[in-house]
Amino acid sequence: MKFETLCVHPTIDIEDKYGAITTPIYQSATFVHENLDNNFKYSYSRLSNPTRSHLETLVAKLEEGVSSTAFSTGMAAITCVFKLFKSNDHFICSSDLYGGALRLFRTLKEDNYEFDFVDTGNLKLVESKIKNNTKAIYIETPSNPLMNVTDIYEISKLCNKYNLLLIVDNTFLTPYFQKPLTLGADIVIHSGTKYLGGHNDTLAGFVVTKDEKLAEDIIYYAKTIGACLSPFDSFLIERGIKTLPLRMKQINDSALKIAKYLKELPCIKKVNYVGLETNPGYLVNKKQSSGFGGMISISVESEQLAKKILTNIKIFKYAESLGGVDSLITYPMYQTHADLPIEERLAKGIDECFLRLSIGIEDPSDLISDLKEAIYG
Ligand SMILES: *Cc1c(COP(=O)(O)O)cnc(C)c1O
Repeated sequence: MKFETLCVHPTIDIEDKYGAITTPIYQSATFVHENLDNNFKYSYSRLSNPTRSHLETLVAKLEEGVSSTAFSTGMAAITCVFKLFKSNDHFICSSDLYGGALRLFRTLKEDNYEFDFVDTGNLKLVESKIKNNTKAIYIETPSNPLMNVTDIYEISKLCNKYNLLLIVDNTFLTPYFQKPLTLGADIVIHSGTKYLGGHNDTLAGFVVTKDEKLAEDIIYYAKTIGACLSPFDSFLIERGIKTLPLRMKQINDSALKIAKYLKELPCIKKVNYVGLETNPGYLVNKKQSSGFGGMISISVESEQLAKKILTNIKIFKYAESLGGVDSLITYPMYQTHADLPIEERLAKGIDECFLRLSIGIEDPSDLISDLKEAIYG
């Protein structure tokens, strides 16, 4: 079955006796045991819930994994993955990552987990950092917010050679454009809050694996931590997924137009978008995914202009988050990356001139006019 059809017709095991066309919301904390054989499909909703299970099976199919587990947020999903490890384990991570992941890793450092942050696009550099206690490589591609690209297949070969797990946060491209498990990754993470849900109306996270033993461990830690996705939120995310392909197509087309427009403006010093042929990661991204997504970051000529844009935009909204139907602009310095030590932040170029755009599904000509007026108006 094609991806688009799967998103609408997951045809998974819910037997609704009324023939409901959408998955019912099983808003029940607990489930009656019908006999004493102790072999219950559902018993308590922290462990499993029919609405959530349906969504989990769907997401596993979309990513071509064997299992997926749904969490209350993306951060809960990442935290659960790190329950697989222990102190004194070492990890190599992309130097550019979602700010919340960086904050989690800083707290894990206090518990003696070891981290090296490098340009994971540079395989030699990554290999040189591997130590006896290295357990996993953790990447985002394209990365947040600089849109750096890592070759998933090449880095997975390195992981196989040294027996490391490859963990990929696939929030930005979604399985519609990129399927890391098919390229050699072991674990895929999502902030379902973003494109999967797609409407900025709920939070969610996913961990998807292609290995039964890993899946078992994740399910065990998920029920232990208890940050599970509620039945209603599961319903909202599943509803969002039905239109994922349509949204991603529109967002991708619009983002490319907007990136090309911004690139021509003298007051914009840099445009980071993997769909631009001038982007250093363009070819690798093209090899491993079928699209570029909707995330663009820019460096404008002055702090004054950055603030002018944020103040004057009308259709775009100045707000944190990404991946929804509404276009948003973020000021990473004050928002997603505010907790980074200042030298680290500046070294990445995340300064007072740096903005991150999440393109929504509005008409691209309206979005371009909005930016034009905000800049020149
Ligand atoms: C938002 C985000 C997260 C965290 O997800 P939450 O649902 O906000 O907890 C993780 N990774 C990436 C790439 C994100 O954009």
